[in-house]
Amino acid sequence: MKCYQCLRSGTTQEAAGLCHHCSAALCPEHICEVQDSATVMHILAPSMELPIRARILLCSVCKAALDQPSGEQSLFENTKR
Ligand SMILES: [Zn+2]
Ligand SMILES: [Zn+2]
Repeated sequence: MKCYQCLRSGTTQEAAGLCHHCSAALCPEHICEVQDSATVMHILAPSMELPIRARILLCSVCKAALDQPSGEQSLFENTKR
């Protein structure tokens, strides 16, 4: 599979992974790796965060979208004149 981000910019690069959110194939240059906390849920105790964190691969578009403090707020700011 070829990197989707590269295809969009007119080049081809062999993909190394997939975006967790939009499933676009990504080359190592375009993969954004983020850490996701793993938690254990207990019925009688509060959920506990585990020391080893999970990995999520994202494309730059989805990472930027998910990093927004509030989707509604930044959408509002973009429409400001
Ligand atoms: Zn690429
Ligand atoms: Zn994506």
